[in-house]
Amino acid sequence: MATDIDWANLSFGYRKTSYNVRCTYRDGKWGEIEVTDSEYLNMHIAATALHYGQEIFEGLKAFRGKDGKIRIFRLEANGQRIRRSAEGILMEPVPEELFREMVTKVVALNADFVPPYGSGASLYIRPLEIGMSARVGVKPSDEYTFLVLVTPVGPYFKEGFKPTNICIMREYDRVAPKGTGRWKVGGNYAASLSAGEKAHSLGYSAVLYLDPREKKYIDECGPANFFAIKDGKYITPESESILPSVTNDSLKQLARDMGIEVECRHILLEELEDITEAAACGTAAVASPIAEIHDLDTGKKYVVSTNGQAGPITTALYNKLRAIQLGEEEDIHGWNTIVDA
Ligand SMILES: *Cc1c(COP(=O)(O)O)cnc(C)c1O
Repeated sequence: MATDIDWANLSFGYRKTSYNVRCTYRDGKWGEIEVTDSEYLNMHIAATALHYGQEIFEGLKAFRGKDGKIRIFRLEANGQRIRRSAEGILMEPVPEELFREMVTKVVALNADFVPPYGSGASLYIRPLEIGMSARVGVKPSDEYTFLVLVTPVGPYFKEGFKPTNICIMREYDRVAPKGTGRWKVGGNYAASLSAGEKAHSLGYSAVLYLDPREKKYIDECGPANFFAIKDGKYITPESESILPSVTNDSLKQLARDMGIEVECRHILLEELEDITEAAACGTAAVASPIAEIHDLDTGKKYVVSTNGQAGPITTALYNKLRAIQLGEEEDIHGWNTIVDA
């Protein structure tokens, strides 16, 4: 029962809910939406998802607002992104309307699992698309399954919104220069596991990747985008190997709304000397502030925060975004979808 959940102590992990929703593309068209309580999938042992990595996903959240209503944050942006990911690795794009219908439906069906306002927890939504046709030769699938599962997740910052240390290492790349980094494909995560586990074992929260072509510029921060404050401006890397984060896009807009200049461009590693704030950003945490960046190859340490606190601009942006998600502030950009449940 959903009511048994200790919302404040939930982790960021999987927990069974009541239902998930699925739809199959076969013979050139999408079928009916299926609602199921099964946590399993029946698939062919030669499916392209299993052999050749035809797998893409999304991650977004629903929140219980101050007014008791359920809001899904930036559903359209996530729908657009999963269509770009599909085109990127030759999968069938899920139509906009089908994506919207399935995401809102699965949230409404699991409304008991949307954590209460004030708990700090939320309902994580995971859309997933996989290639289902049996293939042995390397070739895209004809059949696809799109499914959406949800799971309640706890507040990301159990000990508060505190900066952590991250590290740079040149031994691994997450993606190739003209590879799949700009799409949300599972294979990018497989490629990041070694580096990520190594960083964790050394006591760092994430790896700050350098661009895979020249190793001169800042790329992504683990499975999140990176932004920093330099000369009072919000700066964030832009390149063909970076996934366009919806959270970063939202923070850029909020920064502009606050009168802060935004620069999306290549950021040289040396510029880390002159930043006054930095954070990783993504749906899971909104923004995870960074204290120090240690370059493991050169021994250089970039100290961003000296007082153990997130900087003022990072904090203001974080609070503003959270307030919009929770219906505490007016949603002037139309980012929330209210679910009738
Ligand atoms: C999902 C993801 C992000 C964050 O994107 P959001 O839309 O903000 O959640 C950033 N980088 C990578 C590699 C990702 O997969």
